[in-house]
Amino acid sequence: MSDFTVLNPATGRPVTTVTEAGAEAADAAVARAVAAQRGWSAVAPADRAALLRRFAAAVDAHIGELADLEVAGAGHPIGQARWEAGHVRDVLLYYSATPERLIGKQIPVSGGLNVTFHEPVGVVGLIVPWNFPMPIFAWGMAPALASGNTVVAKPAELTPLTAVRIGELALEAGLPDGVLQVLPGKGSVVGQRLVDHPDVRKIVFTGSTEVGRQVMAGCARHIKRVTLELGGKSANIVFEDADLERAAATAPYAVFDNAGQDCCARSRILVQRSVLDRFMELFEPAVKKVVVGDPAVPGTEMGPLISAAHRSRVASYVPDDAPVAFRGSAPDGPGFWFPPTVLAPVGASHPAYTEEVFGPVVTVTPFDDEADGVAIANDTPYGLSGSIWTSDVGRAVRVARAVQSGNLSVNSHSSVRYAAPFGGFKQSGLGRELGPDAPDAFTETKNVFIATE
Ligand code: NAD
Repeated sequence: MSDFTVLNPATGRPVTTVTEAGAEAADAAVARAVAAQRGWSAVAPADRAALLRRFAAAVDAHIGELADLEVAGAGHPIGQARWEAGHVRDVLLYYSATPERLIGKQIPVSGGLNVTFHEPVGVVGLIVPWNFPMPIFAWGMAPALASGNTVVAKPAELTPLTAVRIGELALEAGLPDGVLQVLPGKGSVVGQRLVDHPDVRKIVFTGSTEVGRQVMAGCARHIKRVTLELGGKSANIVFEDADLERAAATAPYAVFDNAGQDCCARSRILVQRSVLDRFMELFEPAVKKVVVGDPAVPGTEMGPLISAAHRSRVASYVPDDAPVAFRGSAPDGPGFWFPPTVLAPVGASHPAYTEEVFGPVVTVTPFDDEADGVAIANDTPYGLSGSIWTSDVGRAVRVARAVQSGNLSVNSHSSVRYAAPFGGFKQSGLGRELGPDAPDAFTETKNVFIATE
């Protein structure tokens, strides 16, 4: 056990200290989760659903408290943080419908019938990144619990506060001991132990592609189920027939939300050459209008970066000779601030164009025609998200089918809804979260033949 000091990213000052678990504590948590799982999966489906609804109600009653924790410990703007806490409630409510709908099939066969059952996998290890501590925790935790599994969750080192509080709320709502445990700790210690522990039967990992690769290799040793939600370098493709005013007005929010620390950030804007100048004229005031400042103040749209180290990393993509077209504002003084930054023109070999910056930096690149736009959009090892702006519905569908990415939006800057599946193509991940089929990833299908002759 050791202590970790959570810093307020807006001030750089300490918020509180959290005790980090070690490998032994992780083993003890897994043992408790194994013991609790038998009882949890035996709870009648309607009762399990009711407990999840009570858990959702407990979250709902503490939205203000959870949001304040996220403002202080992660620098999220208060409006955004309140939405995120409400989203945890909504995801719990959505999956509270699962326990009573985990139904199988009956398959008539010669001499009898086969019936199928969805059995829980057992203990699920949930490894969460720092950029969206509440939503990503909920996306794995809610369907896992609803399907009769128990969960040991490891929040990111930098942002453990809301997950710890949500774990307490689960107990207050009546979830039995050991069903949901939140274990702050280092990725290399607690996270790695969850990957290596033979009694953890599934890992849900969200984080960098680099660590995801290690996690997948670790899971292979035990043929452990794994879902990976990894990095992105998504394109915002603006065609000449688009509503340019709307495309330009929303483009800042497609990439600078959460200060660009968003796996779905549309950090490459691709604009058809014939409307590039007009787009840039509209885009510049939109970027300058983004309200960057104290995340505790209502109306703030963009807060600080998560840490000083991360700010240095983001700044490395904007050296003194970078082709900065224009920038928004950011406060001076303490805190880990970085202004919204637009780079143009940028060559296809520039690191800000090829790598995930995970900060408020966007590149703008022209393309000639539809085929060229799609080719540029797909010229990346990632495939998580993206947007398409056009008034031609046929083109919208054609391009959406051609872009190799898991979550696209047409004439909108956002594509994530809890009722729809979420996940990546290519090196952006493996498996899907959210949507009606998410519980399938937390159950095994069992097939039983019943002789009738
Ligand atoms: P990270 O990979 O450094 O860490 C993610 C989590 O993994 C943390 O909890 C960390 O402690 C843990 N971890 C680190 N080493 C580990 C190990 N050896 N074994 C097990 N766990 C380990 O990522 P990050 O910097 O926290 O998050 C940013 C990254 O996450 C970005 O690349 C971003 O695109 C990605 N992300 C993806 C999605 C998505 O849904 N696709 C969502 C959010 C963030």
